[in-house]
Amino acid sequence: MPSRTYDCIIVGAGVVGSMIARALSRYRLDVLLLDKASDVGEGTTKANTAIVHAGYDAKPGSAKARLNVAGNAMFDRVCADLDVEFDRCGSYVVGVTPEDLPTLEDLVARGRGNGVPGLEIISPDEMRRREPEITPAVTGALFAPTGGIVDPFGLCIGAAEHAVLNGVEVRLETRVTGFLREGDAVRGVATERGPIRGRWVVVAAGLWADDLLHAAGLDGFSITPRKGEYFVLDRRVAERVRGVLFPCPTPVSKGILVTRTIHGNVMLGPNAVNVEDKEDVATTAPGLNEVMAGALRLVPSLDARDVIRTFAGLRAGGSTGDFRIEAPREAPGLVFLGGIESPGLTAAPAIAEEVVGLLGEGGLALVERPDYVPERRGIPRFSHLTREEREALIAQDPRYGNVICRCETVTEGEVVAACHAPIPARTYDAVKRRTRVGTGRCQGAFDTPLVIEIMARELGVDPLTLTKKGGASRFLTRGTKAVRP
Ligand SMILES: Cc1cc2nc3c(=O)[nH]c(=O)nc-3n(C[C@H](O)[C@H](O)[C@H](O)COP(=O)(O)OP(=O)(O)OC[C@H]3O[C@@H](n4cnc5c(N)ncnc54)[C@H](O)[C@@H]3O)c2cc1C
Repeated sequence: MPSRTYDCIIVGAGVVGSMIARALSRYRLDVLLLDKASDVGEGTTKANTAIVHAGYDAKPGSAKARLNVAGNAMFDRVCADLDVEFDRCGSYVVGVTPEDLPTLEDLVARGRGNGVPGLEIISPDEMRRREPEITPAVTGALFAPTGGIVDPFGLCIGAAEHAVLNGVEVRLETRVTGFLREGDAVRGVATERGPIRGRWVVVAAGLWADDLLHAAGLDGFSITPRKGEYFVLDRRVAERVRGVLFPCPTPVSKGILVTRTIHGNVMLGPNAVNVEDKEDVATTAPGLNEVMAGALRLVPSLDARDVIRTFAGLRAGGSTGDFRIEAPREAPGLVFLGGIESPGLTAAPAIAEEVVGLLGEGGLALVERPDYVPERRGIPRFSHLTREEREALIAQDPRYGNVICRCETVTEGEVVAACHAPIPARTYDAVKRRTRVGTGRCQGAFDTPLVIEIMARELGVDPLTLTKKGGASRFLTRGTKAVRP
């Protein structure tokens, strides 16, 4: 048995686990954040709509409603502290038939009940003024001024790195397979790399939370993966969509929306289809057709020729229909989070505070660290800088003068910084999510060999061992003209 005992082990470094790690890092605690993937945020956190929901949609009285509204209110501060891009641009639910108007009124009433500020119904003319490309069929819209868009990868990486700056340890590629027990009590985790002792274990494992609950000997809860597919459109479409446009919601989803992203693209999706496999993130022709048809109902001028990428994410649909966040009495030492589907990204900062509260009530000593570092800065974003700022950066480090991703204007300096960040990027996708290389129109055709070469040099590894996203996703089996082993 290992001799070290952590105060708390968090299983799952998605946005929820990372936010919990960050919240715990305010205190004098020995905390370990674990994930089976090769980077933080590799689960549902990397594949969603990236909306900071206002909170008018969730059922009144539910944990989803309460934590959505509380989490939303925390975003300005959290994103400023973590140096994460966030725009509180507001969001719309667009009615396209006369029958949609009572639904909009219901959403306003529900939202006010949930404590969402500033909701108003606007006229078709006002909606056309704000979004000139909106369908001529518009019959009215609900405007939610507290809605917004965020960088979901940046939020998770930022939270996890902030936790690391305050002493939290992160171990990746470490799959939890079960729990260490003393009688009923949970006293750590069994992993594929050996046992790890902990006074508390927090399960924030997204789609796999039910499997871990069952491994702890508890049942009565299951997760059904619900797929959502998307299109990402070229930046040149950006001026056609200014904000976040939802249709009226359905019983299982908020509907197929059209939204500007924080990075200046337009995104269409998601649909909602239950699947069996928790790893099935393949896009499908029927799914994408459904998404395009749904998007065209809101913005008829969209053109499939502007698509630069498709992807899919899986919602962790819980059997109770609500977030489940609890310290089960039958397994002292365990805190379980299940069914953290949408609006889980929005709610994550508030969920983290709730978990800290549960741990405190359970007896974990929450003594504030005197040396707490209150902020985390991300790596420089060359494309966002003024001419003077760029010149100053290049004077400091000439590698910022070497553009290696032309579509997104990402420099060698940024890739180098990603390789040496508090949570170093060790895969191409990890560099991509930290710098935006390969996310433009050419989707990595130009930058990939350059990124591999820089990563190999900076990480001191053979380029042939580098992967896209860990596991078997290696790029090369032998050297090329551009990449020499
Ligand atoms: C289609 C879609 C659209 C969405 N849109 C929005 C939106 O616009 N706004 C919003 O607020 N929310 C949205 N959501 C919901 C939001 O994305 C999720 O609620 C949130 O990302 C959940 O984060 P998480 O940390 O709980 O899960 P995850 O990000 O899935 O993290 C769980 C982590 O646990 C790890 N893990 C699992 N099992 C183990 C194990 N045995 N050992 C070690 N590690 C393990 C996984 O590798 C993973 O990294 C959407 C979700 C989907 C799918």
